Order: sequence, then C-alpha cells, then structure tokens
Amino acid sequence: MGLTPMMKQYFEIKENYKDCILFFRLGDFYEMFFEDAEIASRELELVLTGRDCGLENRAPMCGIPFHAANSYIGRLISKGYKVAICEQVEDPKSVKGIVKRDVIKIITPGTYIDDSFIDDSKNNYIMSIYLDEENNNFSIAVTDISTGEFLTTETFLTSYSLILDEISKFTPKEIIICETLKEELIRDIKFTVPALVTKKGITYFKNDENSILDMQFKEDKDKLTPLTYKASLALVKYILDTQKISLSNINKITVYNIKDYMTIDLNTRRNLELTENLRENTKKGSLLWVLDKTKTSMGSRNLRRWIEEPLINKEKIQERLDGVYELFSNIYLNDNLREALDDIYDIERILGKISNKNVNAKDLIVLKSSIEKIPNIKSILKDTNSKLLNEYYNSLDELRDIYSLLEESISNEPPLTIKDGDIIKDGFNEIIDELREAKTNGKNWISTLEANEREVTGIKSLKVGYNKVFGYYIEISKANFNLIPEGRYIRKQTLSNAERYITQELKEMEEKILGASEKLVSIEYDVFVDIRNRVEEQIDRLKLTAKTIANLDCISNLAYVALENGYIKPNLNDKGFIEIKDGRHPVVENVIEKGEFVSNDTFINRDDEQLLIITGPNMAGKSTYMRQVAIITLMCQIGSFVPASSCNISIVDKIFTRIGASDDLAGGKSTFMVEMWEVSNILKNATRNSLVLLDEVGRGTSTYDGLSIAWSVIEYICSNNDLKCKTLFATHYHELTSLEGKISGVKNYSVQVKEVENSIIFLRKIVAGGADESYGIEVAKLAGIPNVVIDRAKEILKTLEANSPKNNLKTDIIEDKISKEVSCEKDSILYDKQQSDVKEHEIKHKKRKDNFIDGGLQLDFNSIAKDSFLNEIADTDVLSLNPMEAMNKLYNFIKEAKKLI
Ligand code: ADP
Repeated sequence: MGLTPMMKQYFEIKENYKDCILFFRLGDFYEMFFEDAEIASRELELVLTGRDCGLENRAPMCGIPFHAANSYIGRLISKGYKVAICEQVEDPKSVKGIVKRDVIKIITPGTYIDDSFIDDSKNNYIMSIYLDEENNNFSIAVTDISTGEFLTTETFLTSYSLILDEISKFTPKEIIICETLKEELIRDIKFTVPALVTKKGITYFKNDENSILDMQFKEDKDKLTPLTYKASLALVKYILDTQKISLSNINKITVYNIKDYMTIDLNTRRNLELTENLRENTKKGSLLWVLDKTKTSMGSRNLRRWIEEPLINKEKIQERLDGVYELFSNIYLNDNLREALDDIYDIERILGKISNKNVNAKDLIVLKSSIEKIPNIKSILKDTNSKLLNEYYNSLDELRDIYSLLEESISNEPPLTIKDGDIIKDGFNEIIDELREAKTNGKNWISTLEANEREVTGIKSLKVGYNKVFGYYIEISKANFNLIPEGRYIRKQTLSNAERYITQELKEMEEKILGASEKLVSIEYDVFVDIRNRVEEQIDRLKLTAKTIANLDCISNLAYVALENGYIKPNLNDKGFIEIKDGRHPVVENVIEKGEFVSNDTFINRDDEQLLIITGPNMAGKSTYMRQVAIITLMCQIGSFVPASSCNISIVDKIFTRIGASDDLAGGKSTFMVEMWEVSNILKNATRNSLVLLDEVGRGTSTYDGLSIAWSVIEYICSNNDLKCKTLFATHYHELTSLEGKISGVKNYSVQVKEVENSIIFLRKIVAGGADESYGIEVAKLAGIPNVVIDRAKEILKTLEANSPKNNLKTDIIEDKISKEVSCEKDSILYDKQQSDVKEHEIKHKKRKDNFIDGGLQLDFNSIAKDSFLNEIADTDVLSLNPMEAMNKLYNFIKEAKKLI
C-alpha cells in the first residue's frame, strides 16, 4: 500500500518546511498532519482526528476553517512557531487529478504584521547578526516590515554586551544569527529577549548570486560596507524566503553608528523603567507612560525609539530642545498642531500593507483622509522659526496628486474585500460605468417586469426574486396557480406552497446582468490594483512625509507634556558637570499625591564632586533620587524638557546602573554573582563621560566583604584616570562616608529623616553630609513588624553595639589601615598581578591579615583574589589556545595558585 497522491504531494512540500507548521489547504480548511497536527491540536486546543493516507495507520490530522485562520496563526506565532501557508496554486476547474499546491508565505514572529497581532505603538523588528570571527567584528541589520524602516551597523566586538545592548534596544521579535556566533552568546541573546532565534549557515550571509540587495535597495545599496552587507543580505534573503515577494517599502538603508547614541545596557533600561515597569513589564509606570501623549501611532512608536536611543550629539539635542521650546512657548500653535495631527492614521503601516499587497480599499480611504490633513499642518508650521520645525515644514509633502487620485477613484465607504466590487467611484473608469449602467438597466427591467406580470396575470402576490442557484425567477403561490395564463411561464422549481417560473426574456436579461456583474467585479479589482500600484510608485514621498509627521508629533508631544507637567528647558554644557535644581522623578511624582513629591538638587562633576555617597535609611528615597538624576539626564538627551526648576547637563555617553538585587536563576548566577558581574561590567566599560548609579554595592555578601568591595570600587572609580565617571553611590555602609576628604572627588550626601517618639518621618530631602544612623528597626516598625519582634530587635542591637568594634570602624586609624591596605591590594593583586614577587606578596599578605584581625576586621582579600583566580580559570577558552599558549597559561596558573595557598 503506497501513499495517496495527495499525501505524496503533502510530503514533498513538507520536506522543504520542516521547521514550520504546514497549513495545507483542502477546500475551505487548512489541514495539518502528523507531528504538525499533534502540536497544533495541543497548542490550539483542536480535536485531533485521522485521515487515510495510504499507510497502515491513519495520519493524525486537525484543521481550521480558512476564513478564521488569522487568530490561530497569531496564537501559534506568539508561542514561537513558524507557519507555512500552502495554497492551491491553480484553478481546480481547469485541472484533472490533483491540484497543484505550494507554500505562498511563511509567517514568523518577525514578519507577521496582521493588524490584530502587532501593537500600533511598538515596532515589530526582525534582526540579523553576523560575526566575523577572524577580525572580531560584527554587523547587525534590523527592519520592521510593517513600516519599511531598515537599519544597519557594524563595529569591533569589544564585548558581547555590545551586541546584547543593541538587541535590548530594538527588542526584536525574531533574530537570524550566523552560525559563527558562540553558543555562550546565543544563550545570552535568548536570555536577553524572548525572540525566535534562527541559525543560518555562513553562506546565507555571503552568497548573492541574484544580486538580491541590488534589487531591493538599488543605488542605496552602495551605503553598505562588506560587513554590513552580510547582515543586510541575510535579512533581506530571509524576508524574501518567507514573504515570497519583494517588499517595495523596504528600499532605503539607514546606516547608523552605535556610538552616535547613548549606551544603555539591558539592566539599566529595566532599572530605569524606560518603556516598561519592572514589576509587570507593562507601559504603566514607565517613563514612556509619562511622556507619551502623542497623537498618532507613528509618533508613539517614534517616541519609544527616542527614549530607547538618546542622542549624544550636542547640536542634534539642541535642535530638538529648540523645536520643543518653540511649541512650548506658543500654546496656541501647539494646540492647533495637535488637533491637526489627531486624525492622522498610521500611514507607515498602510504603506507596509501596500507593498505587502494586502491593502484594501478601506485602508486607502484612511490614507486619503490622513493626507487631507497635511496642508493644514503645513500651514500651521509655515511661520515657525526653529531649525527643526523648518526642516519638518520643508519635508512635508502635501501629496495632492495622491489625494486626488484616491478621491476620484475609491468610493467613500468601500467594503472590506477587494474582490466583490463596489470599490470604484462612478466616473473614474468608462468601462466600469458602462457595465454598471447595463446592470442597473437590467435590474430596472426586472422590477418593471414584476409590475407588468402582476397586471397581466392579475396575481397581486406575484414577485420576482433571485438566488445564486437558479438565478432570477417569478414566484407564484399555490393559491394563484389557476390564474397563470397557459404557456406563459416555464416551471423551474417547486416549493411547499409556491412554484418558481422563468421566461426566455428573463433568462436573457439575467445573463446580461450577471455577465455585467462578473465583469464589473473583475474590472474593479484590476482598476484597484492599478491604483494601488500608482500609490506604491510614490512610496518614497509617502514614507518621508510619514516619518516627518512622526517626528513632528514627538516634538509637539514633548512640548505638550512639558507644559502639563511643569518641565523646563535644560541647558547643555561642555564642562563635564550636571547641575539640577529642584529635580523631580517624572514617574514617581505622577503616581503619588499631587504636590507630595519633594524636589532635590544635584551637583556632580569630574573634579571635587565626582562620586556622591548617599546614605540614609531604607525607604528614605535614595534609589528614587539616583534614578531621577539619570532619567533627567536621559530626558534631556532625547530632547525633552525636564522636571526641575533649572538644569544644566554635560552630555553623557553611557548610563550604567547597579540597582536592586535579583537572582539570575535561569542564567545560573547567584544574587551576589549578578551584582559583581554588573559592577565589573561598569568598571570595564564606563568612561569619563558616563553616569553610573550604584545602589548598595556589596550588600549581597558578608558585611566586611561587602564594605571592602564597595570601598575599593569607590577608590577605583575616583583614582583611575580613564574612568572618573560621574557616580551616585547609595549605601548602607556609613563607614564609607569617611572617604570624603580622603579620596578626591568623593562627596557625602544623605536623605533627611526626622526622629519622633521612637519612630521616624521621611523628609526625602537630600542634604550635604553623611547619615550616621540606619534606622533599620524604625523602618521595620513602619512596615508593620509586630512590636514584640521590634522590641527584641532593639535589645539585640544594644548588645551587639556594646560588643562590636563598630565604633572603631569609624576611627581614623582603621580607615587609614583599610585605605592603605586597599591600595596595597590594588597594587599587588589588581594591577600588578603578573609581576609581583611571590615571596614579597606572602609577607604582605600575612601582614595584612594580621593587621585586619588586630583591628577587629576580617577583611578577606585572599578570598576575593581566589574568586577572581577561579573565574580566570573558568573563563579560559582552551580550544582557542595553541599548545605553547596553553603551556604558558598553565605555568601562570600554577604560579598564581602558589600565591594564594
Ligand atoms: P530607598 O532607596 O532609600 O530605600 P526609595 O527611593 O525606594 O528609598 O523610596 C521609597 C519610596 O519613597 C518611593 O517608592 C516613593 O514613593 C517615596 N519617595 C522617594 N523619594 C521621594 C521624594 N523625593 N518625594 C516624595 N516621595 C518620595
């Protein structure tokens, strides 16, 4: 027994789409077979049936009606599957035997742009990553096929975090990676975003026999370097492979430089809650939530991008700020503008549908009504002065030709489908008009026929009707049969209490009407496709105008939000300082009672106030304050006004945060490990122009370990000339406040609290000087810990304080000891590890140990060094070493180990 012909066809097709669920079209259903059927029935809760397939066992099968396919596809895509749509590709009437079928589209998370599936306010990115192992370079290409934006970049791979940062900036739904990427990196990528990752061989990134990129981008292709070419090629290939058509809206390449934007790593994006809150990963409670009052979906997506990608070019930031200022100062102008933007629909996504060939007439009407608003917007912008608004004025195309075309051609209330006619206006096309007339005349003839026949027969209830099977007929009820003149009608159909008749003339007229209708539908479709193509030819102009509207919406929105929330225009300086007066956290001030937020000043520079140590009890407002400084800086660099009474910002190249502690269980790292990994990343990558927030560094380990690490991190940041980044350092370790005056650049601040009858009131005010009480027990009491526990804690605290060397910790002698030892540690272990003499080190090591134990401190530098040594061993990639290098490594490891035992 062999396979049935249909199953044979199924297997031949399935062979090429092994990684997809194959939707195999059979009549009005998409059927799935074998493993696909099992997966789909499980994921979509469909009944699993079977079908004879010519094999011994029936093929497992399940199906869905084709007209309801979209929602099922959406569900499979969300669960990370790809779906291949296999259709009949020839007319069943014209073939004998089995109809030819083929896959017409592959739907994947990055390419599925159905309105019901994608979010208006977010881009739907798909990315490709190429890594050139030999030269340690990589390139990235990213596109959103619903808007046609295509970006690419390349750079030297200093660390994996560069790639991960770009991924977290775009949060693509799907990533195509080259097989040259290391497993470790792939794991990190999968951990960074919940994207579908597809690995492709190196040839996918290289061979270009058909000059795919020439066809896609024409001369724009010349912008690509050999490296960006590879990532771009793979991405375009993948889109062609899945969409099976070339998308005309993807025709311009934007080459960007990673260094043109502020670097913000994934942790920082999350910690600062830029586009989503930490708890629920939703927009509410994020900076975007406060700032996004845009009028259009295009503006909303654009603003998200601005927040994800703050600028570092001073002129560009200034241009945005000046644009915002002009609209901020002219409320009337901005109100008018916002009103005009109100009814503009998502032109970018309509263009996406046009090039994807799935636009309908309703979409074109929406496009027309959006274009109609442009002249008004242009006239509002006419007399503006700022450079940016002038630029927008100039690049807004009124698109009058496209408007006229659509106005003349597409009827005002067209149906959703484009294959059933009624979409083209009268007067646009002569043939359509003629056919319509023929149809109308025929229909008129038929309605006159009804009246005529009633008169001739005298049967008042006689009626002329129509159905799809029998066409037009004359219906006469049984009671009136006797009145029918002999031979006048031909009987066609008998119903329970009526008969249906036809006449020769009726059938002739029917043919005319139906012929005209059929022709009309097909000609209307052709004319529609022609209109669509004519609009598509102007896609560049439409795209530019859509982008301008998106930008304009953002600037106008920032002016509006600034006015609503009482923000001011920040100044920019080149002197390396940030000075904020009466700064507020834009999100926190929005979620607490109006007027309750306590504003605070900030001054931080590269010299005497480079690292601010902020002490104060839990819940006092330290994290809020630190985040506020970072967010105000970031807001300024997207071109937004800021929540403060005055603000002067020196442009920041990177923001880093080490805030909060959470176990990275999936990544296999403990809380402390995550903390140290983040700190290490900051110390390696921050520059003099970076802004660093460190919250409770060292908290994840024992007190003295933690204190020593915090201490030495502070020293490293302040003394390393390549670093000296502006740092806000919140800590519980009050001992650290003694570093002010000892380490240049360190300055103490604390959050004020007021003691009242065994309790405390948070004043939320940041003042110069360190706090010396932690008020932990008072905070615990405020949190509702039972009184017995609180009282007992106080007793224990008293005993501990009496017995501990805590007070000693604050004495200068111990500080000196620690300072000396920390710098000695730095010399011998951190900086000069390779050259240090083993013996001398042993002596120093012993002395250091003794000193600390004498001083009551068990600062175990040995264990820190051991940890770092073990990490070094663990990080060694043996396969990348040649035998000589391996011998040398081993020799060094033994030498190092001897130092540590
Ligand atoms: P800490 O980091 O010191 O533990 P947080 O910064 O988390 O404290 O602040 C705790 C809470 O205090 C915040 O959730 C916020 O509601 C409130 N808060 C913080 N700063 C202010 C402020 N400046 N004005 C008003 N309320 C504030």
